[in-house]
Amino acid sequence: MRIALLGGTFDPVHYGHLRLAEEASEVASLERVLFVPAYVSPFRTAERLSEPMHRVQMLRLALHDNPRFEVCELEIQRGGISYTVDTVRAVREQHPDAELFLILGTDTLQGFMGWREPYVLGQVCQLLVGIRPEYDLQETLARLPEPIRQRVQPVPMVPLGISARAIRQRVRAGRSIRYLTPPNVIEYIHQHRLYLEP
Ligand code: ATP
Repeated sequence: MRIALLGGTFDPVHYGHLRLAEEASEVASLERVLFVPAYVSPFRTAERLSEPMHRVQMLRLALHDNPRFEVCELEIQRGGISYTVDTVRAVREQHPDAELFLILGTDTLQGFMGWREPYVLGQVCQLLVGIRPEYDLQETLARLPEPIRQRVQPVPMVPLGISARAIRQRVRAGRSIRYLTPPNVIEYIHQHRLYLEP
């Protein structure tokens, strides 16, 4: 079984995340992609995120029509600061024979050596890295130590300059977010009056 984890805050999930997972699935013939919402990201401890329940529910709505994609609530259940290495260890225990992958964008790969136990992560997982035109993958790779660089498989993808931050800002400004995230996610955002407060 080839299983990948795609971590993020998903506040909210959007088509950039979904396309990244889809392209990575194709490149690496993945059988499952686990979308892992962080309880608290180690790099964003000062930021106020939406309730975990809302972020999980929006993910469920976005993923419901793809049998290979699912929400993994390990970090939400664990609480505290979410370290990917802890999650990877837990997934490894649940699936001892699986081939594991991490999916991330080039921007996120740039900070990879600042993650907890990056060499362990690189040993256990191959890194599927979505190419984003605003970030230079070659330069990012050149700065990484060899054992990590060897584990990177680039994922060419349709460039989508969508970010969760821009979606939140648009909602606050009363602007349309149509075509940036699936319609059922948009409906959920409006129903629960998310992102109206700064
Ligand atoms: P925010 O705007 O709040 O920072 P975000 O939209 O960047 O959020 P995250 O949840 O932080 O979303 O991202 C999770 C992962 O998805 C990261 O590895 C990031 O590189 C990747 N990603 C996010 N948006 C895109 C996109 N538009 N195209 C490709 N990859 C993306």
